[in-house]
Amino acid sequence: MIKRETENTIALVLGSTQYGDSSAIVSLAGDNGLFALMAKGIYKPKSQLKPLLITGNIVQVEYAKAIKGPYIASSLRVVMDVSDSLKDYASSCYLMYLEELSLSLFQYGDKFPYEEMKIIINALKDKKDVLSLSILTLGVLHHVLGIEINTDDCISCHKSKNIVSYDLSEGGFICSDCFFKYDASLKDKMDLFVLKYAFSSLSEDILSKSVPKSSGIRVLAQLNDNLVTYFDLKPMKSFSLLLNALY
Ligand SMILES: [Zn+2]
Repeated sequence: MIKRETENTIALVLGSTQYGDSSAIVSLAGDNGLFALMAKGIYKPKSQLKPLLITGNIVQVEYAKAIKGPYIASSLRVVMDVSDSLKDYASSCYLMYLEELSLSLFQYGDKFPYEEMKIIINALKDKKDVLSLSILTLGVLHHVLGIEINTDDCISCHKSKNIVSYDLSEGGFICSDCFFKYDASLKDKMDLFVLKYAFSSLSEDILSKSVPKSSGIRVLAQLNDNLVTYFDLKPMKSFSLLLNALY
C-alpha cells in the first residue's frame, strides 16, 4: 500500500466551489501563499470539514498530498470562527468582497498577506467598524501587490506642507505647488486623512478608529476602482453589495 504523505497547516479560508455532488474545491491562504484543497463529502450532513465553506475562517487543516490533482483535506480544527459575523449584514458583505477580491487578485502559489488579514478579520469579529476595516484591507492589498501610494509627502516635490489632493494612478499625495501638473481635483481635507489611514500599519489604535462615513465611502470606492483598473479586473459584484450595506 502506498503511504500518503500528510501535511498540517494553519490557513485562512478564501472561498470554495462545489465539485461533483457533495465535494468542494476550497481556496486557502497560509504562510506559503494561496493553495487549494479538495474537501470530499463536505456537503454531506455530518462532514466535519464544513468550516471550510465559510470565507474568513482560520483553520488548522491536515491534508494528504495526492500524486495527481489537488491535495485532499482529511481533518480540521477551527482556530478562528467568523460564523457569528455572518449574522451582521455589512460584515457578511465584507467577507464576500474579500473572497471575490482575493480570488481575482491572487493565483495559487502567490504570496498572500495572511498575517495582516488575520488581524483585520479578528477586528471584524470584535465588531470594529466595517467601513474602516474595508479601507485597511484595500491598503494592505495595494501594498502587497506592489502598488505603493505615498501618503507622507508630495509625489512630485516631496514637501509635506500644503497637501491638497491625491491621485492613486500617479502614486499618492499632491501639494498645492504641484497641483497644476496633475489631472486631479482638490480633495476634501477629510478624504486626505482617510487615504493616509488606508496605508497605516495595523496597530491597536488604527484598528479601533472609525473613519467618517462620506469620506470613507468615497476613498473606499477610489481604492477599489484603482485595483480594478490596475489589474484590468471585471467590476466586483460584491463591492456594490458592500457599498449598499455601508450607506
Ligand atoms: Zn509638491
